[in-house]
Amino acid sequence: MLKGKTALVTGSTSGIGLGIAQALAAQGANIVLNGFGDMQGPKASIEALGANVAYHGADMSRVAEIEAMMAFAATEFGRVDILVNNAGIQHVAKIEDFPIDRWDAIIAINLSSAFHATRLALPAMKQANWGRVINLASVHGLVGSAEKSAYVAAKHGLVGLTKVTALETATTGVTCNAICPGWVLTPLVQKQVDAKSAALGVSNEEAKKLLLGEKEPSMQFTTPEELGALAVFFCTPAANNIRGVAWNMDGGWVAQ
Ligand code: NAD
Repeated sequence: MLKGKTALVTGSTSGIGLGIAQALAAQGANIVLNGFGDMQGPKASIEALGANVAYHGADMSRVAEIEAMMAFAATEFGRVDILVNNAGIQHVAKIEDFPIDRWDAIIAINLSSAFHATRLALPAMKQANWGRVINLASVHGLVGSAEKSAYVAAKHGLVGLTKVTALETATTGVTCNAICPGWVLTPLVQKQVDAKSAALGVSNEEAKKLLLGEKEPSMQFTTPEELGALAVFFCTPAANNIRGVAWNMDGGWVAQ
């Protein structure tokens, strides 16, 4: 379905970003991976799906590196048709104890990077009159949780950016939407499970149940595969007129 299209997924060496990159690759899209850590395993997993793949290690907190990554993608594959703004980090602390450098990093990586990648991707998408911008927000783009000030502020900002991008492209073949997962058991959340397990002196399995029980009525983690399938749906013709939504996939978290 996506043969001949190119998808750039930020933060795709792990977790949700990798799941989305694999789902888009399975539909035939060329993939540009980005992120830290091991990139050989993720790259091989995309190649195994028969898709073309390239990697750029831009640090999404640095504007010049984002610009270099977007230029690299255009050189490799012509243009970016599908931009998935996914890179993100978390830090948990009360506002008065929140380290200033963590606040700045979260705003830069979880919010500003999406603005920069989007502003650089839109001209070619508009020219082709087809494009998809998919922003990985969170239930924390819709509701708050204590001790996550920077994350909640960045994700609410990302939902706002999604709406403005959708409005500015509303009469074109370019759409922009946000995906808002609840808990997904990736390294980002495993750290919070480990912290709960250590703080309460309970097993990892018990800590997972407690984490889910606080917020997610389904008592199930959403999976990167499920999120990948939603991203693929946003790329289908059926989604041509879905614009500016913040679509939660959260086991009922924000229905409460
Ligand atoms: P993860 O930690 O598994 O993956 C994060 C990815 O971002 C990795 O590839 C990492 O290398 C990359 N990354 C981190 N800092 C970067 C930087 N400065 N520059 C480039 N890449 C960088 O996390 P995840 O859970 O897969 O999260 C992906 C996105 O989904 C994030 O935006 C996160 O906020 C969001 N999200 C996650 C959950 C969850 O429960 N895991 C829920 C809602 C939303």
